[in-house]
Amino acid sequence: MPRYRHDRFIAQELRAAQPEFADCPFCVGRDGRRKKLYPAVEDAKHAAAQQRLRRGAHLAVYYCENGGDGWHLTGG
Ligand SMILES: [Zn+2]
Repeated sequence: MPRYRHDRFIAQELRAAQPEFADCPFCVGRDGRRKKLYPAVEDAKHAAAQQRLRRGAHLAVYYCENGGDGWHLTGG
């Protein structure tokens, strides 16, 4: 199948598999909104992959340094 359709299929798969995550009570992103807190590093990596597909963003995953029990994406 053509490559763009394949990418779209993957994006749909990712969207379907992505649960809702809580906001971090301690961290605010550059856009002024609370950052999403991913309880498992796999969740954060999954979200980063989603952003890459959606808008070509390359986001890094890091552990919350403000006391939140979970992971964040840079720039998110
Ligand atoms: Zn945080």
